[in-house]
Amino acid sequence: MALLDRSDWYDIARSTNWTPRFVAESELFPPEQSDPYGISMEEWETYDEPYKVSYREYVAVQREKDSGAYSVKAALLRSKFYETIDDAYLSVLKFNYAASIPGEYAACFPEGRMVRFSKAPSMRNLAAFASLDEMRHTQILLNFAHQLATMDRQFDWASQSLNSMNWVSMSGRHAMEDLLHSRDIVTTSVMLHLAFETGLTNVQMLGLSADSANMGDFTFSNLITSIQSDEARHAQIGTPLVEILVRNGRKEEAQRALDIGFWRVWRLFALITGLPMDYYIPLHKRERSFKEYVNEFVVKQFERQLLDVGLDRPWYWDIFLKEVDNYHHTQQAGIWSWRRTVWWNPDGAVGPAERAWLEQKYPGWNDTYGKYWDVITENAKAGREEQTYAIGMPCVCNMCGITVAAAGGTKWDARVRQSEYKGRRYNFCCEPCQWIFDIDPEHYADFDSIVDRLYNGEIDPPTPENLLKFMGIGVHSEGGVDASHLSWAHREPPQMAAE
Ligand code: MN
Ligand code: MN
Repeated sequence: MALLDRSDWYDIARSTNWTPRFVAESELFPPEQSDPYGISMEEWETYDEPYKVSYREYVAVQREKDSGAYSVKAALLRSKFYETIDDAYLSVLKFNYAASIPGEYAACFPEGRMVRFSKAPSMRNLAAFASLDEMRHTQILLNFAHQLATMDRQFDWASQSLNSMNWVSMSGRHAMEDLLHSRDIVTTSVMLHLAFETGLTNVQMLGLSADSANMGDFTFSNLITSIQSDEARHAQIGTPLVEILVRNGRKEEAQRALDIGFWRVWRLFALITGLPMDYYIPLHKRERSFKEYVNEFVVKQFERQLLDVGLDRPWYWDIFLKEVDNYHHTQQAGIWSWRRTVWWNPDGAVGPAERAWLEQKYPGWNDTYGKYWDVITENAKAGREEQTYAIGMPCVCNMCGITVAAAGGTKWDARVRQSEYKGRRYNFCCEPCQWIFDIDPEHYADFDSIVDRLYNGEIDPPTPENLLKFMGIGVHSEGGVDASHLSWAHREPPQMAAE
């Protein structure tokens, strides 16, 4: 039987709006889900998707992608690659699997809500594919991580993280619930498709996949490239939507959604890509620095994409640019010192050669972060490892859930910002996190950070041992140790060794 060309039937098949006669339009599409901005149905029907695909085509392509990724995995499994690779690199995987899976799973739901509640028929159509994409990502990541859990229990966090009260898991979940689960689908689309997927996933998936390929880990490299090919496609769902918002006088609201979404995701990606790229990947396997990747994929490419859809750079762009130089270095120092609280083995990785590289990529590193590591190196050399562990819990941001920290050494500028709401005080790590809270305090007010839970009696008794247990450490797996057993601290600079 002859098949029609897609172009012969597509426009009719996607025009699935009708005039409801048994219920009001506001019941069929409740504004709090479908569109709180009051844009007319006629306007939504102008939504023209940037790519066109039929279900038959979609399934065929996805099947190819899956069989490609699974066969690379099967081939590498036979080579015992993971049994012999560096522990620091395994930490990249442990961190990334457990951080990505809850995000992929969370992303299934807003896409599903868009299928039901979008007033634009074409958007409903594309969101159906996107929801299947996110389910594929969740399943393939779980499958790939699962084989590693028998080798090392820390990999089990790939499935434990979603429900865990570990501070890192809570940080990611808070952001995902904010952006993906608790807003109307129009606002969520700006946050998910534009801020998250268009803005930041390239750093993770193209940048980190290059580093993984250098390591010889073609399984992971191929896996995240396969995922990214879906992200790059369905991220485009946001483009016609933002254009409709801007055309209908809602630029301000779209811009605000972008600014909130981008900052929240930046916080997470700075950790899950910044730490691996500049510290955990062995020096000779690093493709580029984190900053170089962010400059290419975000500062250059994303900025252009924003201007193209009629939006501006977020108001805090200068703060963001400063953070690209700094933020992940402060968090590397913090997470390494609190390594007992996480499910991977952070690598200190600041021997003489690494420090020279860091100084070259981030001029001034030695005078700031270097000062902190000088003390640690001295303690490590003298066999006083116990003095390299931080004690208690640091002040944590009530928005991003990450430690309040800033550049050390000669540029110390850590400062807690505080807001009061209904008689309670909230702490923030930076101006954007505080700004997000102050726009809509009611949306965030009931959340208790890990540190709040130490003081409100939820972690009882509030002892260090009990805190670790509350966070799943010693339960699902042991907490982190230095991935290289401090060997980097014992290395001498080349000229000193020669003398
Ligand atoms: Mn995904
Ligand atoms: Mn996605």
